[in-house]
Amino acid sequence: MLTFPKRLLDGYRTFRTQRLPTEQSRYRELSERGQFPEVMVIGCCDSRVSPEVIFDVGPGELFVMRNIANLVPVYQPDENAHGVSAALEYAVNVLRVKHIVVLGHAQCGGIRAFVDKIEPLSPGDFIGKWMAMFIKPGEVVEQRDKETMQQFVTRIEKAAVFRSLENLMTFPFVKRAVERGDMQLHGAYFGVAEGSLFVLDKVTKEFLSAKENE
Ligand SMILES: [Zn+2]
Repeated sequence: MLTFPKRLLDGYRTFRTQRLPTEQSRYRELSERGQFPEVMVIGCCDSRVSPEVIFDVGPGELFVMRNIANLVPVYQPDENAHGVSAALEYAVNVLRVKHIVVLGHAQCGGIRAFVDKIEPLSPGDFIGKWMAMFIKPGEVVEQRDKETMQQFVTRIEKAAVFRSLENLMTFPFVKRAVERGDMQLHGAYFGVAEGSLFVLDKVTKEFLSAKENE
């Protein structure tokens, strides 16, 4: 018998009977003409932080890449396979997106696991190695004494957004597109409990409530 999750089959039925009829022509058009999303979002795998839900977008509007803690590695053109870099290359060089948004969030489990210095979760400790690529141990202890644990974790969550934005500029094709004015990089932060969105102000380097722009 079918062991596919019932929740997903039920959800698909709702999609097919309610949403698809209103979006069928859009799907057909996207199928025939291809996708032309103007925005790439780099977000966390966290099940509470779905870019399509938060930004209320339809099919074809967002090119989304999600990984643990919404991180972008530095440009590393070596013999290894790089999933994040492949997605970036496609978004920038093939789709020619106009914006890349790095979307961080509160209560990030990847960051919590990292700052708590939990024991390796597996012999490979993939999370530990993944996180250590971005946040250096010195940055983690810096100012720790003056902060509550909550403030500290929030700071590291926001630092992950800054680090990803910095690392994006190490990709020559990203740097070129930004410098030509063909593409812009943005940072954002989602507060899970309130459903609040904060957008990074490039001048002050502060995250400002998106509600203020209404
Ligand atoms: Zn997360």
